[in-house]
Amino acid sequence: MLAQRVVIKTRKGDIWGIIGSKPPHILTEEERKKLQEPKDMYIDVGATSADEVKALGIRPGDPIIPICPFTPLGTGKTYMAKALDDRLGCALFIDVIKKLVREKHPNTVFGVGTVQEEVGLRGAQTSSWIVEPDVGLTMEIGIAGDVPNVKKEEVQEKLGKGPVIVIRDASMVPNLRLRDLVVTTADELKIPYQFELLEGGGTDSGAIHLHRQGVPNLVIGVPTRHIHSHAGIFHREDYDHAVKLVTAVVKRLDEETVTSLTE
Ligand SMILES: [Zn+2]
Repeated sequence: MLAQRVVIKTRKGDIWGIIGSKPPHILTEEERKKLQEPKDMYIDVGATSADEVKALGIRPGDPIIPICPFTPLGTGKTYMAKALDDRLGCALFIDVIKKLVREKHPNTVFGVGTVQEEVGLRGAQTSSWIVEPDVGLTMEIGIAGDVPNVKKEEVQEKLGKGPVIVIRDASMVPNLRLRDLVVTTADELKIPYQFELLEGGGTDSGAIHLHRQGVPNLVIGVPTRHIHSHAGIFHREDYDHAVKLVTAVVKRLDEETVTSLTE
């Protein structure tokens, strides 16, 4: 977080700042070795007095957003941006719905950009009462492990090797027939995919699959590097393949297929 640019959203408008860091020149030997805790950090908005800060209209509770504009990278195939977890999921369902309006399919499809997933799957709980889903597909990121210091035993996903199908995380074991339908669809359409297995972490599916008497759910994601930091990186082909896969799965989910998931 140190030295990252941020925007504070105030009632008077956007205020820019930077997360302050002590120059190495005045750090003690001990301080240099220590990782600074977020609770000890502060945002410098360039003010020189308390009155100036007050005049900017900043109040406790104002949201703070990292600055990292969407940037196509040098390879031409990968993109960098902030908050891909889970803006990428929102982009995915928008593109899926754009495709579905032009095609025949047997469903009423809801795309939901849920709130507060990271702090307790809250929006997924409340929106399930509006949607009343027969099936839930959570559009997510996958954790890409093709970077230094990540062991193959921890995570295997690579950028450019296809969307991720989550076979287990801490919040859900998916409906196996739904999982198989997605895998079979990908195989038949020759869409590449990768499996993800996580000991920790959860997704909105963790809440949706517990709605009422239970809803078959699966998580499909785009492998992304550096998630939960200020900048993530993903591969365009993985994204396009995810759109293709989810669109095809929705088209196959007719009444008979949906009933067979839980019968
Ligand atoms: Zn996350």
